[in-house]
Amino acid sequence: MSEGTAKKEEKPRKFQAIRGTRDLLPPETALWNRVEQTAHEVFATFGFGEIRLPLFEETELFARGVGGDTDIVSKEMYSFVDGPSNLPDPTDQFTIGAFVETIVQAYRKGEIPKTDANSTAIEMLKKAFADFAEETQRQPRGFVQGVPDLQKYFSTFYSAVYFASVVSRGEAVSLRPEATASVCRAYIENNMQQLPQPVKLYCIGPMFRRERPQKGRYRQFYQIDAEVLEAVRKEVASGEWRVASKELAKDAAVDAEVIEMVMTLFDKLELQGVQLAINSIGDRNCRPMYVELLRAALLKVKDKLGPDSQRRIETNPLRVLDSKLESEQGIIAKLPRIADHLCEECAAHYAAVKHQLEMRGVIYRENWRLVRGLDYYMRTTFEITAKGLGSQNAVCGGGRYDGLVELLGGPPTKGIGFAIGEDRLILSLQESGKTKAEQGRDIYIAWMGEKAYTTAIRAAKNLRNAGFTVELPPVEQKFGKALGQADKLGARFALILGDNEVTSGEWTLKTLADGKQEKLRESDLVEHLKKQL
Ligand code: AMP
Repeated sequence: MSEGTAKKEEKPRKFQAIRGTRDLLPPETALWNRVEQTAHEVFATFGFGEIRLPLFEETELFARGVGGDTDIVSKEMYSFVDGPSNLPDPTDQFTIGAFVETIVQAYRKGEIPKTDANSTAIEMLKKAFADFAEETQRQPRGFVQGVPDLQKYFSTFYSAVYFASVVSRGEAVSLRPEATASVCRAYIENNMQQLPQPVKLYCIGPMFRRERPQKGRYRQFYQIDAEVLEAVRKEVASGEWRVASKELAKDAAVDAEVIEMVMTLFDKLELQGVQLAINSIGDRNCRPMYVELLRAALLKVKDKLGPDSQRRIETNPLRVLDSKLESEQGIIAKLPRIADHLCEECAAHYAAVKHQLEMRGVIYRENWRLVRGLDYYMRTTFEITAKGLGSQNAVCGGGRYDGLVELLGGPPTKGIGFAIGEDRLILSLQESGKTKAEQGRDIYIAWMGEKAYTTAIRAAKNLRNAGFTVELPPVEQKFGKALGQADKLGARFALILGDNEVTSGEWTLKTLADGKQEKLRESDLVEHLKKQL
C-alpha cells in the first residue's frame, strides 16, 4: 500500500444528518422565526399561554394518549430504555456477578423502575445467580471438558442470564411523536383544573416519527400545537338536559374560536389556497352504531375493494374513508354518511359549530370523510390544506377529545386542539413567494488604517445599538475589495472610514444601489440612516 492510499484511509469520515432530519439554515430560519413570532402574537390575542414540554416522555403515555394500535405508536416511535448505562455484560460468565450487584444497587437507589414485576425479577435473578455462584465454587480452576457437573454449571448460568433479561433496566421512554398527550399529562400533573377554566395552551417544537421521508414528510418535523382543556363541572357531569344543551352551545363556541384562531394565523401569514374542511364524527353513543352500519355496507362491496380496505373492514372501517385509491372512490361515495346518523346531542353540536363559524366569517367546506380512528376523538374534526404541497397538502389537523384526560388518569375534562405542520406551512409560503426573508446587512463598514479601526468599532457599536445590522470586517481591506464584499452581502450602505474621514470628522456614506456618496458627521449618522432604512 502506498503512503498516499494509507493517508486517504485515515481521512476522517464526513458525517451526514440522519435520514429524515435536516438543518434549517439562514436565511430560511428568518422565515421560521417570523412564522413563530406571528403565532406567539396571534395566540396571545386569543388568551393562549405558551407551554414548553419535554421532548421525551414515558412510552406508555403515548401508547395510551395516541393509541397503541395507531401507526404512530406501533411502528414510528423512537423509543429507548432510559436507565444506567455501561452495565456489566450479564451474558458473560465472568461479569454476570458484577451485573447482578449493579442492578441491585440501581434498584435500591430508584435508578431502575420500582415496580412489583421488577422486584420479583430481581429476586429471581439473585437466586439464580446464587445457584450459579455455588456451582462455580464446585468447579476446579479452569474448565475441563468432561467434568461431571459442567452441565449443571451451564444450566445455572443460563437460568441467571434468562432472569437478567427479564429485569427492566430502566424506563421505556420515547421521543414525542405529537404534543396532545404531553399537554394532557402536564394539565393533570400541574393541577391545572384548579385554574380558571378553560385552560388555553400552545407549544411550538419538534416531533419525531419514523415515517418514510418525502417532500413535506420528515422524521424530525415541527408542529405548532394549541389545546383548550376544561374540567367538567359537577352539574354538567350529572347530565341534566337544560345544563347539557347550554354546554353543547359553549363547546361549539370553543371549537369555532379555536378554528378561527388558526385561520387568523394563516391569514396574517398570507398563506395561499387555504381550505378548511370540517366534520363531526359523533361520540361514544352514536359512533359505534354508525361504524357497524358502515361495516355492513362495506362487507357488501368487499370484493371490489383493495386489500388494505378489505383488512380495515374488520380492524377500523372508518379508515376506509381515508382511502386515496382511485378505484375505490366511486364505492366510497355511496357509503352511509355519519352526518345522517348522529345522535341528537352530536347533531345539535355540529349545527352549532357551523353556525358559530359563520358568525365569525370563517369559510368552511364539509367533508364527511374526514375521520379520526381513535375512540376518544369525538364530534368536531377539521383539517386545513394549502397550496403548493403536492400529496402531503394538510398543514393542520385538529379535533375534540373529551375523554382523553380521564383516560390518562385525570379528572373528567373536555379538550379540543390542533397541530399545524410547520415544515409544510413554511414550504407553502416559500412556494407562493410569501417569504420576505430578511437577508443582507444595513451597513458595511469599509475601514483602512489603525486609527480608522478604532473609529469603526465605535461606529459599529453605536449603529447596532440603534438596531441596524452592521458588518465590520475584522481585517483591513482595500476599499475596492470592501465595496465588492458589501455588495455580495446585500448591504444597503457602505460607511467608508479612512485617514481622511477620521481626521476631518466627516464620514463618507455610500448608497450601494446607485453609488451616491455623502459626507456626514458622526453625530448625525444614526438619525440620517433612520430616515432612510
Ligand atoms: P397529526 O399530528 O398527524 O394530526 O399531524 C398534524 C400536522 O402535522 C399534519 O397536518 C402535517 O402538517 C404535520 N405532520 C405530520 N406528520 C408529519 C411529518 N412526518 N413531517 C412533516 N409534517 C408532518
